[in-house]
Amino acid sequence: MTARIIDGKTIAAGLRGNVTDAVHRLRRDRGLVPGLAVVLVGQNPASEVYVRNKSKAVTEAGMYPFDQHLPEDVSEAGLLDLIARLNADENVNGILVQLPLPPQIDSQKVISAIDPAKDVDGFHPLNVGRLASGVAALVPCTPLGCIFLAKTVHASLAGLEAVVIGRSNIVGKPLVQLLLAENATVTIVHSKTRDLETVCRRADLLVAAMGRPEMVRGGWIKPGATVIDVGINRVAGQHAGKSRIVGDVAFSEAAAIAGAITPVPGGVGPMTIACLLLNTLRAACAQKGLPAPQIGK
Ligand code: NAD
Repeated sequence: MTARIIDGKTIAAGLRGNVTDAVHRLRRDRGLVPGLAVVLVGQNPASEVYVRNKSKAVTEAGMYPFDQHLPEDVSEAGLLDLIARLNADENVNGILVQLPLPPQIDSQKVISAIDPAKDVDGFHPLNVGRLASGVAALVPCTPLGCIFLAKTVHASLAGLEAVVIGRSNIVGKPLVQLLLAENATVTIVHSKTRDLETVCRRADLLVAAMGRPEMVRGGWIKPGATVIDVGINRVAGQHAGKSRIVGDVAFSEAAAIAGAITPVPGGVGPMTIACLLLNTLRAACAQKGLPAPQIGK
């Protein structure tokens, strides 16, 4: 079997197009332009690239970017003060603090200081709790993107045996909640799980999010399964001094057995930004008491 490739780039472009259309309607009919503040602390080159891409995407979607760049040595109080100002700013509908933060700052304290209504990353404890309770919430972008991708293969995820590898707060755990909400039967596995391989082989839907380059081998996959690879790992390339990006799944082996699979790059990555735009639009509508845009339902 050769798996169908789940083209995250094209699917994300479609979602971004829908968000952009909805933003234009919002501007035309209500005079409202959603705004997203992305807060970057310090000079981490990877974070700088992410933030630049996010701001570009925000502008392309017709929204206002409110980029905030603070020095590496900013105090926790200084960052909390900025969050308070963004919370109070009516033009800012979404706030995202790029992680990781420098060691002098308690990330959890900062996340908890964001107005939950503007928490477009879905990391605030209130939104985490709402998601776990099955109440409408702003949900983390990468897991939300995984659900969109899985639904391009399966019209319904109900009753599917889903296995999620990785239990982080930003990917694995929220994804489990989203899969439960879709009525999948969910197992979460992690670094202490015994016989990972056997558990993975049960999965109709396998999501790999552990940050271990190409760890999931072809033999771990049930024939015909859908494989979503969240991993982004930089490894040495074939030529000296060159590197390349691989996922958590050994792609060629897996594609020979799976029914459908996401590539890396070009799978989950582009969906994360598209879902951030969707969350910003949803947050803006909710803050103004407008109905939620019917996108991705
Ligand atoms: P993390 O390090 O916070 O969590 C990794 C999880 O994997 C942990 O729960 C750990 O128990 C589990 N794990 C680690 N080694 C394991 C092993 N050998 N066997 C089984 N489980 C193991 O990572 P994260 O932030 O959740 O990110 C995971 C991966 O997803 C990384 O490669 C990251 O770069 C990528 N990522 C991609 C996007 C995107 O937009 N595509 C977004 C976020 C994260």
